[in-house]
Amino acid sequence: MTPPVALVTGIGGQDGSYLAERLLADGYEVHGLARTPDRPAWCPPQVRLHSGDVTEHDAVRRLLLEVAPDEVYNLAAVSSVARSWQEPELVHAVNGDAAVALMDAALVLQESTGSPVRFVQASSAEIFGSPTTAPQDESTPVSPTNPYGEAKALAHLAVSQARERGLHAVSAILYNHESPRRPTTFVTRKVTSTVAAIARGEADELVLGNVEARRDWGWAPDYVDAMVRALRHPVAQDYVVATGESHTVHDLVREAFTAAGIEEWEGYVRIDPDLTRPMDAADLRGDHGRARRELGWAPTKTFRDVVALMVDTDLLG
Ligand code: GDP
Repeated sequence: MTPPVALVTGIGGQDGSYLAERLLADGYEVHGLARTPDRPAWCPPQVRLHSGDVTEHDAVRRLLLEVAPDEVYNLAAVSSVARSWQEPELVHAVNGDAAVALMDAALVLQESTGSPVRFVQASSAEIFGSPTTAPQDESTPVSPTNPYGEAKALAHLAVSQARERGLHAVSAILYNHESPRRPTTFVTRKVTSTVAAIARGEADELVLGNVEARRDWGWAPDYVDAMVRALRHPVAQDYVVATGESHTVHDLVREAFTAAGIEEWEGYVRIDPDLTRPMDAADLRGDHGRARRELGWAPTKTFRDVVALMVDTDLLG
């Protein structure tokens, strides 16, 4: 029997690396699209790498027709909300238009081969903007408040349209999900790597922006598992993927210092107003009830577990 074939865009990112490991373990032939020709740090050697930019729509379509995957996971994105304020057009092109073009290409492939293609869009809690209700679920209005959220919202809405046109397409509305593979541009890894450096005597301050911001932080491999389950479910629909609990950046800092065994930590933290964003979602917290009921999915790690795992890894490095 020939193995199922999956194409993963954004294979070089945190989620791409965990997803590649998962699909290889499940016996898939995994193709990955990455921007650079070099194999990304966490990318397993068995992944068949293709280099290219998702904004090159014609090249992506040709690749899709050549690889002819059974499944497409669209993880390629400019992942930083903060950066989206500086480069809104780029973020719209990568996080929005490219996803729309990829779904179109998947429909073309499906029509040309007659074999169904399943598609997962890595959507984001940022499509909800600054919601007035918490927790949010699949029926919460889409109302983004930053360029990142706008682009993700476009792709999210395009998923329902692709579904109408016959594609088995799913939007996984992912809340923040973290791991030791997170870059330090994200607040979790910035905190855990800096706390580890302080514990080793190599740094003496942790400089942060809005420490009152709340996020629903989960464990990245759990979120990859949710995307796999969502894609394999017989009915294509959208799912909120979240823990249901939110914590402040301040809580994150306290947990990280505690995990590193530093009790007197307040003196290390400095607030720099320049790191505060023009708009910041107040309470992003997701209700994963549908994913639990229909996919049998639940988070396997608590906030404290995630922070401790990240600090432990950073203490080694
Ligand atoms: P995001 O939710 O995808 O934007 O993930 P981030 O990890 O970048 O940011 C999470 C929250 O942490 C946001 O509300 C930020 O405003 C807040 N935050 C506070 N200080 C910092 C900081 O120094 N760096 C980052 N990246 N975020 C910070």
